Amino acid sequence: MLKIKNLHVNVDDKEILKGLDLEIGEGELHAIMGPNGSGKSTLGYTLAGREGYEITDGSVQFDGRDLAEMEPEERAAAGLFLAFQYPVEIPGVNNAYFLRAALNAQRKARGEEEVDSMSFLKTVRESLKELKMDESLLKRAVNEGFSGGEKKRNEIVQMAVLQPKLAILDETDSGLDIDALKLVAEGINRLRDGKRSFVVITHYQRLLDYLSPDHVHVLSKGRIVESGGEELARRLEDEGYAFLEEAAEA
Ligand code: ADP
Ligand code: MG
Ligand code: MG
Repeated sequence: MLKIKNLHVNVDDKEILKGLDLEIGEGELHAIMGPNGSGKSTLGYTLAGREGYEITDGSVQFDGRDLAEMEPEERAAAGLFLAFQYPVEIPGVNNAYFLRAALNAQRKARGEEEVDSMSFLKTVRESLKELKMDESLLKRAVNEGFSGGEKKRNEIVQMAVLQPKLAILDETDSGLDIDALKLVAEGINRLRDGKRSFVVITHYQRLLDYLSPDHVHVLSKGRIVESGGEELARRLEDEGYAFLEEAAEA
């Protein structure tokens, strides 16, 4: 699904990712943890194709295609979804309209017909209900005046509507209370079907308790320095990232 080899990325001429390797198979959920400033969000933005994130070396293959050759819209059409750490507010654009436009843009790029409004609303309503979100959120401007938790849950609604092949969630759990965290985790788990893949960037073990990731990676100073199973996340929760310094000194 995703094959990253020796990825080097510059932001403002400063190298942030320094030879990152990562492979995500179909249906797998990978968690990425790591200290602040290690390059986790940079990885997400690079995969999304955000301007200013320059790949200087290495390669990224998504579903057999060279991601660097694809425009951000093409990436979305091909089934890549990114929920951002700081979800954007789009004043004046109603949430339902935005979701439907995003879905139709994706379908158009795939040569599919536009979704009819009845089936669209049905999907959105189901997903709002599952996430315990009020339907009035559909009529409000995208993320405007949403609480932190509502924005995060809205990301899961977006994901449920767009049905991506690969979803990258950057700190979708930050700022959530325990109930909202559980709803978000359940929202993610509902979308797991053995084919869809996930990259979940998080600081906390708690979300991973609900998600049971297949693989856990530690990103430090622009590279994946440690990989393991769920037990690695528990170890980090207990011991912090001090072992990274020890390993560097050894
Ligand atoms: P993380 O998500 O792991 O906390 P980031 O990917 O946000 O880390 O940032 C990694 C490093 O890149 C940090 O040192 C940060 O200061 C730097 N960085 C991120 N964005 C920019 C930018 N637009 N310009 C310059 N430096 C940046
Ligand atoms: Mg290298
Ligand atoms: Mg970040």
